[in-house]
Amino acid sequence: MNLAIFGATGSVGKSTLDVVARHPGRYRVFALTANGSVAPLLELCRVHRPRYAVLSGMARDGALEESFAKCDTELLFGSGALDSVARHPETQAVMAAIVGAAGLASTLAAVRAGKRVLLANKEALVMAGPLVTGAARASGAHIIPVDSEHNAIFQCLSEGRFVRRILLTASGGPFRAAAPESLKGVTPEQACAHPNWVMGRKISVDSATMMNKGLEVIEARWLFDLPPERIEVLIHPQSIVHSLVEYADGSVIAQLSNPDMRVPIAHALAWPERIESGAQPLDLASIRSLSFEKPDEARFPCLQLAYAALRAGGAAPAVLNAANEVAVEAFLGGRLPFTGIAAVIADTLEAVPAGPAEDLAAVMDADARARRAAQSRVMALAA
Ligand code: NAD
Ligand code: MG
Repeated sequence: MNLAIFGATGSVGKSTLDVVARHPGRYRVFALTANGSVAPLLELCRVHRPRYAVLSGMARDGALEESFAKCDTELLFGSGALDSVARHPETQAVMAAIVGAAGLASTLAAVRAGKRVLLANKEALVMAGPLVTGAARASGAHIIPVDSEHNAIFQCLSEGRFVRRILLTASGGPFRAAAPESLKGVTPEQACAHPNWVMGRKISVDSATMMNKGLEVIEARWLFDLPPERIEVLIHPQSIVHSLVEYADGSVIAQLSNPDMRVPIAHALAWPERIESGAQPLDLASIRSLSFEKPDEARFPCLQLAYAALRAGGAAPAVLNAANEVAVEAFLGGRLPFTGIAAVIADTLEAVPAGPAEDLAAVMDADARARRAAQSRVMALAA
């Protein structure tokens, strides 16, 4: 299978290459992309020798083209090259693992082209769920969730008509038990030190605020076509049960594994078959106990903000997502306290009229307006 990995230099991208390298006859690395990480991308090309590499955040550079040519790789530049690779007739599957709104256009291009899309880039569905799922219905593209919770639900869904509700598990991140008044002084390093998963910095901060789970509720709404009141969040600090589906008869089906992204990645790559992922087998006898609790809404206001945006509909989830990206970047850059993230998002949702989200232009317009509003909130809070 010819595979294009968008966001190959990131955490999900590298885990994908780890799984693929275990099955050389089965997958061919057809294209690898990065935004501007030249040296890491070149190194990946030396090992995996893809036909194409893309530096989507850079302009054409002849010297770089020559160094990639030594790996028999044609180097392309600019974000338009992502769309070309997504649509390329020889591309069969796309791992959508770019972080944030930057991944929407290329994800949508792959879906429209009818490819098999392994979806890690949850922000694409948060911003434009109806557009992306509508495009998949029209083109026949299979969207296979890579996000561990959604991949778990995908695995547990055999009789979709009879689902009563789904339960998305959340570890609660590094501040699950911290005193609420201690959160104001949290540093980026503390926020990125996730207890169970090693991930990119943006999603690590999202996990610490629990906005990650809010984004995942919206992602689940579109992937599984369920209303918000049938999507619940359950804190499970060990990150062993990745999510659960409850059926009409009271049966609850869950998927379990060690917290290792190679498990959902291998599942999405091979579905409907199964392949070895490299993850350690689950040893429940040594884990001994699994625990669950309700999320603390006062400690994690971002979760309710996400439900509110989902219920508001239209472009409100795109506004939520853009405000979150601006706030997280400001926090990582030392320009906003941790507790300011939720405040910026709440204020932006109030200030920006969302409107409908009937096409990509409307979504990107809402995204741009929300970014401007969120930037000025960040500056006001920093002053
Ligand atoms: P990361 O920061 O480690 O990697 C991001 C990748 O995207 C890099 O290859 C980078 O070059 C590329 N990129 C960044 N900005 C870009 C831009 N403007 N244009 C084009 N490419 C750009 O991120 P990650 O942790 O691997 O997460 C990727 C996606 O997967 C996110 O949407 C995240 O929510 C989702 N996800 C990640 C995990 C995880 O364990 N890391 C789990 C579930 C879902
Ligand atoms: Mg997840």
